Amino acid sequence: MSKRDYYEVLGVEKDASKDEIKKAYRRLSKKYHPDINKEAGADEKFKEITEAYEILSDDQKRAQFDQFGHEGPQGFGGGGGGFGGADFGFGGFEDIFNTFFGGGGRRDPNAPRQGADLQYTMNLSFEDAVFGKETIIEIPREETCDTCNGNGAKPGTTPETCPHCKGSGQMNVEQNTPFGRIVNRRVCHHCHGTGKLIKEKCSTCGGDGQVKKRKKIKINIPKGVDDGQQMRVSGEGEPGVNGGPSGDLYVVFQVKDHEFFERDGDDIYCEMPLTFVQASLGDEIEVPTLYGKVKLKIPAGTQTGTKFRLRGKGVQNVRGYGIGDQHVLVKIITPTKLSEQQKQLLRDFAEISGKVPDEHQESFFDKVKRAFKS
Ligand SMILES: [Zn+2]
Ligand SMILES: [Zn+2]
Repeated sequence: MSKRDYYEVLGVEKDASKDEIKKAYRRLSKKYHPDINKEAGADEKFKEITEAYEILSDDQKRAQFDQFGHEGPQGFGGGGGGFGGADFGFGGFEDIFNTFFGGGGRRDPNAPRQGADLQYTMNLSFEDAVFGKETIIEIPREETCDTCNGNGAKPGTTPETCPHCKGSGQMNVEQNTPFGRIVNRRVCHHCHGTGKLIKEKCSTCGGDGQVKKRKKIKINIPKGVDDGQQMRVSGEGEPGVNGGPSGDLYVVFQVKDHEFFERDGDDIYCEMPLTFVQASLGDEIEVPTLYGKVKLKIPAGTQTGTKFRLRGKGVQNVRGYGIGDQHVLVKIITPTKLSEQQKQLLRDFAEISGKVPDEHQESFFDKVKRAFKS
C-alpha cells in the first residue's frame, strides 16, 4: 500500500508554516481521535494524521521528507543501517497527543518510551563524499547506567512502587466548588510522575539511571553522498526509558569544496585552459578526473566556452542509479607576455589574415560593422 503525501494528509501547502501545520493537525486530530470518532477507519486516519504531523513538525524530518519522500535515499548497505526511511513508531505519538489534549492522565509513567534522536554533523572531503569510506565517530550520549542497570537504585535495592499514586504517577485532587465537586488529575509530587520511589539512589548516576558517556560508532559513509544529505543510523540515539527502544542517530554531511572540480548532483564540472594555438590547430590534452588523467581530443577551431563531456567520469549515484559525467569547459587564454619574435610572428599572421581572424567568423564581424553604422 502506498503512503499518502504528508502534506496532502494534513491538507496544507508544501510551504506551510509550522503554525499552519499545527493548526491543521489539531483540527484533524480532534475530528478523528478514536475517543471521539467511532466511525470505521477513524483510527487509521488518526494514525496517518499523527504520523504526518510528527514528520512535518520536525524541521529535520520534514527536510528529509521533502528531499527523499517516504522511502529515504536507499539502495546501499551501511554498517549502521540505511538512510532514514519512514518507520516511525508510536513513541512520539503520546507526546504530541498530550500536548494538544492536555491529557496528562493518559500517560503511563511505566510505559516504554523511545530514547531521543541525536544529530551529528560530519565534515567530509570532496573525495570522501564521492568514494565513501568507513570511519569511526565519537559522540557524547546518555547511556544506561551499568551500576544499577538503569533503574536508578543503589545495587542490592530496588525502586518501590510509589504508594501515594500506586505507580500511576498521577493523583486525583478533589475540590468542592459552588458548582459541585471537581476532580483534577495532577502529577504525583511524591514520585514526580515516575510512579516509583527510590530510597537509596545509585551513586554512579545519582538515581537518573543514565550516565553521559562518549560512545564510538562505526559509520559507513556511502559512495556519492552530497553536501547537506543525512544518514540515519538506527538505534544509536539515546537509550529508551522503561525498556523502550533507543532513538536514532542522524549523521549530516558537510562536504568541502574542491579546488579544481565542482559538483552538481552526480555531475562534475571543471575548466581547462587552452592556448589559442591549441584551439586553432587542435590538440590532445590531459584532463584530471576523479579517477585519474583522461585524454581529451580538442578539434581544430575550438572556440572558448566549448563544453566537452567525459561520460561516466562523474559521481556514482548515492542510491545506486548509475554514474554521472564530467563536463569540461575550455577557456582560451590570450597570451600576455610575448617575446619580440612572437609579436613579429603574430603581426605577420595578422598581415596574411587581414583584420578578420577567421573566415568562419566573418558574419559576426559584419554584424559589428553594421552596428557601428546604425
Ligand atoms: Zn545508576
Ligand atoms: Zn507517586
